[in-house]
Amino acid sequence: MPPHPETWLRVTESGLFCEPGGFFVDPLRPVDRAVITHAHADHARPGHQHVLGTAETLAIMRVRMGEDRAGLTQQALRYGESLTINGVRLWLRPAGHVLGSAQVCLEWQGSRVVVSGDYKRRADATCAPFEPERCDVFITEATFALPVFTHPPAEQEIARLLRSVALFPERTHVIGCYALGKAQRLISLLRQAGWDQPIPLHGALMKLCTLYEEFGVPLGPLVPATVAGKDKLLGAIVLAPPSAIADRWARRLAEPIPCLASGWMRVRQRARQGGAELPMVISDHADWPELLATCTEVEAGEVWVTHGREEALIHALGQRGIRGRALHLVGRGEGEEE
Ligand SMILES: [Zn+2]
Ligand SMILES: [Zn+2]
Repeated sequence: MPPHPETWLRVTESGLFCEPGGFFVDPLRPVDRAVITHAHADHARPGHQHVLGTAETLAIMRVRMGEDRAGLTQQALRYGESLTINGVRLWLRPAGHVLGSAQVCLEWQGSRVVVSGDYKRRADATCAPFEPERCDVFITEATFALPVFTHPPAEQEIARLLRSVALFPERTHVIGCYALGKAQRLISLLRQAGWDQPIPLHGALMKLCTLYEEFGVPLGPLVPATVAGKDKLLGAIVLAPPSAIADRWARRLAEPIPCLASGWMRVRQRARQGGAELPMVISDHADWPELLATCTEVEAGEVWVTHGREEALIHALGQRGIRGRALHLVGRGEGEEE
């Protein structure tokens, strides 16, 4: 009988450790060998010796951390390509979360685990779509694991924004969004909805947009928001980090309408705290129905749950005959990222 994954994949102080393989997945501290699911800061940390991930993830890590901190040596693996490390077979499948995001699939002596990192099931033109992989243990995030979190179609939220822009042509809509993933997805959704004007960006968002374009994700005309005069930004849709929409930076814009794009915008209080007049429920994480559907689809007898609302998900999985277990990994963000 294949060994139970518990016997070869353990939670340590440095994070999830594959014992026979001698490597960590998304380690919390600097380690010798790290496999990284995606480049968000709560998964990809600086200072590892050897780092393995998709070429996209490795490139994003270099841009964000600097060449010298993104791993002494880096090794890129394509989706579906497999590698054997000390008898452990390892391969990556797209997670549909952000550019380069991958599920790490591990097999040892006939026992298979999928570490999904963060994922979503909705269409996203800026990254490869999630691919379910059958396994014995599926490790899932639980960021939005409550029945109240059912994300509306992103197109519907974009349409609300465009209606507001049409209604207030003399004002500037400024959308707070994370620099990695959310910003590029919003731009791509705006282009799909026919918004072909240049999109002014806060300086903090520019580098990763350029990198996405280098990896073949078209984003259309983008301009730095800082060089344009106030009047030039009338009627524009400006993108900035969430923290910038309510501070001095945004007050320089013409009568700004602060907007936030996040799965948390389902919670009214969060929208108010963030200073969003126009909250948009757009998330790069699976919502409640997607979490349940995915855990069922991969046919795992057991699901290990990380960052978020473990109890609700474990309870719901139990009702479906799937054994759930909370994996207590410290340091995972409960915010959408960073
Ligand atoms: Zn993430
Ligand atoms: Zn995460």
